[in-house]
Amino acid sequence: MSTPFAAIRQHALRTLQSPWLHPLNDTDALNELLGSLNPRWSLTEVRAELSGRRAETPDTVSLEFRPNRLWNGFAAGQHVTITVDIDGVRHQRVYSLSSDPAQAERLTLTVKRQPGDRQRTSVSNWLHDGLRLGDVVTLSAAAGDFVLPGAARPALLLSAGSGITPMRALLHALRQRAAAGTFTDDVVLIHVCRDRADQIFADELAALVREWPALRLVAWHTASRGRPTVAKLLEAVPDYAARDTWLCGPATFMADVEAHWQAAGLAARLRLERFGLAPRVVEGAASAEIRCERSERLFTAGAGEALLPAAERAGLKPAYGCRIGICRTCLCRKRSGTVENLVTGEQSSEPDEWIRLCVSTPRSDLQLDL
Ligand SMILES: Cc1cc2nc3c(=O)[nH]c(=O)nc-3n(C[C@H](O)[C@H](O)[C@H](O)COP(=O)(O)OP(=O)(O)OC[C@H]3O[C@@H](n4cnc5c(N)ncnc54)[C@H](O)[C@@H]3O)c2cc1C
Repeated sequence: MSTPFAAIRQHALRTLQSPWLHPLNDTDALNELLGSLNPRWSLTEVRAELSGRRAETPDTVSLEFRPNRLWNGFAAGQHVTITVDIDGVRHQRVYSLSSDPAQAERLTLTVKRQPGDRQRTSVSNWLHDGLRLGDVVTLSAAAGDFVLPGAARPALLLSAGSGITPMRALLHALRQRAAAGTFTDDVVLIHVCRDRADQIFADELAALVREWPALRLVAWHTASRGRPTVAKLLEAVPDYAARDTWLCGPATFMADVEAHWQAAGLAARLRLERFGLAPRVVEGAASAEIRCERSERLFTAGAGEALLPAAERAGLKPAYGCRIGICRTCLCRKRSGTVENLVTGEQSSEPDEWIRLCVSTPRSDLQLDL
């Protein structure tokens, strides 16, 4: 449905395209100008102001943003690409939307700190330490198909670690359907994490369980019980085969659950949201030499290794966003050679084609415009 704001914006954009108005119709320049008047203003970009923050665990924070009117909202389970400027360098990363999709005027991202060597820029850590209340970031439209189906069935949400972030949005949406009488089944959330202190949204979910009897929360704390096998986890939900299942967590956890669902012939009932690439064996792969035209560098990519980490190991710093092939930030032109897509298994040998470094592994020596 077209709102008055959308109609005015469309009209303004059409008028501004007139050559008589140049350089006033330079959208980038106008966005720049609007941004200097109010950082949230833009003709084309979703800009969002940090309006609140809440520590969820010692290493996880929820950041609440107030987007401008170009934000079209999201479906529970979707993610967004955030663009930030850190020391003059533009970075993009992908985060799940963890808030209630019914609240269009604000949205929340829940971000876990990255441990280890901080020589390189961790955007997550910068969001923890560098982003201040009132700061403005740029957001993409929401995307992804880790969403609720139209038809209702009992639901099983399986998460580990920060994989619980999209589950919170899904629970909000299911709760609303239940309140509206369009979802009458029950929901089981099984969540694996180190201990209670490490359990993101622990108090909030406990409160939700108290007020919504159709929700059951099973928390598995690895500090006291060790890592669970999938079979052990599923003892808590013997009717799992009759449920629609949503899965999000570390790659190995997801691989184990996925294998279980596949072996049980239930793959069609399983929806997945990956924060990282799924481990994949590339049959017959061999290491390859990668020649970079612009940087005049030569590096070796290991057998079955994605080009992005191989390039990073060689000291190159290609821009990236998601590292799983969804945001296209690491697009690069391949001049020659054959690559295999680590998600689809497709091979391509076209000269001068665009490839995504994060999901492409070499199948021959390559020449890149890098
Ligand atoms: C769909 C989706 C949803 C997501 N949702 C969430 C969420 O809700 N919450 C959340 O916390 N995270 C989420 N993530 C993960 C998030 O996008 C980031 O990947 C994560 O936070 C790490 O980014 P970073 O910049 O902090 O770390 P980075 O510095 O980008 O490090 C991330 C990883 O990249 C590798 N790496 C980076 N630089 C190098 C290098 N120079 N050499 C070798 N390896 C390198 C390392 O393996 C490292 O562990 C999501 C990801 C996706 C794809």
